[in-house]
Amino acid sequence: MKTDTSRLLFERAKTRIPGGVNSPVRAFKAVGAAPRFIAGANGSRIWDVDGNEYIDYVGSWGPLILGHAHPEVVTAVIAAVEKGTSYGANCEVEIQLAEKICQLMPEIDMVRMVNSGTEATMSAIRLARAYTKRDKIIKFAGCYHGHGDSFLIQAGSGATTLGIPSSPGVTEAIAGDTLIAHYNDIDSVKNLVENFPQQIAALIVEPVAGNMGVVLPEPGFLGSLRQIADDHNFLLIFDEVITGFRLALGGAQTYYHVKPDLTTLGKIIGGGLPVGAYGGSTEIMEMLAPVGPVYQAGTLSGNPLALSAGLKTLELLEQKDVYPKLREKASYIFNGMAENFKRAGIPVVANAVESMGCFFFKQGLVTNYDDATKSDIKLFGRYHQLMLEHGVYLAPSQFEATFLSLAHSKEDLDRTLEVHGRVCRGLKQK
Ligand SMILES: *Cc1c(COP(=O)(O)O)cnc(C)c1O
Repeated sequence: MKTDTSRLLFERAKTRIPGGVNSPVRAFKAVGAAPRFIAGANGSRIWDVDGNEYIDYVGSWGPLILGHAHPEVVTAVIAAVEKGTSYGANCEVEIQLAEKICQLMPEIDMVRMVNSGTEATMSAIRLARAYTKRDKIIKFAGCYHGHGDSFLIQAGSGATTLGIPSSPGVTEAIAGDTLIAHYNDIDSVKNLVENFPQQIAALIVEPVAGNMGVVLPEPGFLGSLRQIADDHNFLLIFDEVITGFRLALGGAQTYYHVKPDLTTLGKIIGGGLPVGAYGGSTEIMEMLAPVGPVYQAGTLSGNPLALSAGLKTLELLEQKDVYPKLREKASYIFNGMAENFKRAGIPVVANAVESMGCFFFKQGLVTNYDDATKSDIKLFGRYHQLMLEHGVYLAPSQFEATFLSLAHSKEDLDRTLEVHGRVCRGLKQK
């Protein structure tokens, strides 16, 4: 496969953009391959600047559940752009999208639009702190909530339960307000709650973890979090930036029947344009300025292009049989891949729910971050590179999800499985 043009562009990019990328994982550092520069995309396919075609299972990291350049989304964006790109004033599509989100997610009475998932989670914890008049938050090791300072925290070692910064530039003071628990481990949450009585403002969780690979909540886990939050008067925040409108129209909260106090959204609600949102009960949301004292603002928030793309995407997702179709495609490909791995004698852990999933290169189970990090990432790197060279574009890290879209045809899936079978046999022979 020819990659000369991508390589040249990457070298050029690196002199003016740190690492040549505007988001680190795009550098393909974890898999050793040359990152591709994309020339265009349509449906299930993307093309790079060297003219190679790929079947895409990244979907811009989750937003493109309808596939690339869906004609109705494109039409909606063109109609919007012809009326101006931004007003810095109100427009009706903001109300339409807010109404749609509130209708689909019954726990949300009111919603505030922002420009990214990162902004949504940052704003949600500010609001939770103001509402509870407490400072500390609990997050889980391996859950990602964007790059806000409070979330770039890892578990402290040994005796300490206080978080420590996982990036230079995050202060110890901020890290001390973030407590780290372990996914699917209720006792780790209870310990923190007991050690920091009346100090916890909120617990934030990905109801299905999608940023340490895919890790599912064990039965009862999310319900127990709800119970602990109620018992100790702190807010439960579901970060549904990935799972919202992906697991079901109503997100993970309707899928698992657990009600969060606040929900953060992103990715799919922008239909591929930059959007985030957070919402909850009227009582909590009306603490936001200009009604209440909690400040949060945005020059481009509620942007008409982004919201038109998001609204059209949600309308298309409301059509009959969308989720059964996605589920069918996903189980077809994930089962087929699992079978290929098995036949080749490569041990993997298959974690999947609805149209998101991943294979960890390890034996046993993956129920938390510690399990996930025991994967053979060198083997994953070779696997990723071989799939890429054969025209299948997977997320360039063991710790990311594979996403199905409505644009993946039976033919795409069969071709992927055929390539995958060959790659598995090749991996084994090495
Ligand atoms: C992607 C993601 C974010 C951050 O969203 P951005 O739009 O990249 O800032 C937050 N939470 C989760 C669960 C995500 O997957």
